Amino acid sequence: MATTYATNNAEETISLGEKLAASLKSGDVVALCGGLGAGKTVFAKGVAKGLGVDEEVTSPTYTLLKQYMGSRLPLCHFDLYRIEDEQELEYIGFYDFLGGENVCLIEWAQNAGNINPNIKVQISGKGNDTRVIKIYEEKDAYTGG
Ligand code: ADP
Ligand code: MG
Repeated sequence: MATTYATNNAEETISLGEKLAASLKSGDVVALCGGLGAGKTVFAKGVAKGLGVDEEVTSPTYTLLKQYMGSRLPLCHFDLYRIEDEQELEYIGFYDFLGGENVCLIEWAQNAGNINPNIKVQISGKGNDTRVIKIYEEKDAYTGG
């Protein structure tokens, strides 16, 4: 079972990300799912805020990953949109960031077959500012897809 939320603007999505951050712990891997412009990066900004990141969070589309030192936990934010094969993931040291102390947020996690996120955030709705956001947590036994 997932928990379903609706947000009416970017600020509300940031608040929801902040709320999720309060329950995150080291080693959590969060898949952020939804099409281009759904609000994955906006949600990530909220999570970062909640983890105590001061820096501005921007999309890692071209860099593939950005790491932030939150005062509560370190955050690694990935965007795998441009990843074409598993080998590229190894080149960027992707697997070294998983587990350990980091919280990992992964946009387009479906482009990397080998990840097992324990939390999934599915954002849908586009065209206007309303978004439906479903959060599947570990206890929901999310197994991919
Ligand atoms: P993605 O990372 O999923 O491609 P972004 O987070 O970069 O998408 O962009 C989402 C865009 O949608 C932003 O321009 C944001 O201002 C806008 N937006 C409008 N309404 C919302 C909402 N309810 N939640 C999140 N973003 C929203
Ligand atoms: Mg994005």
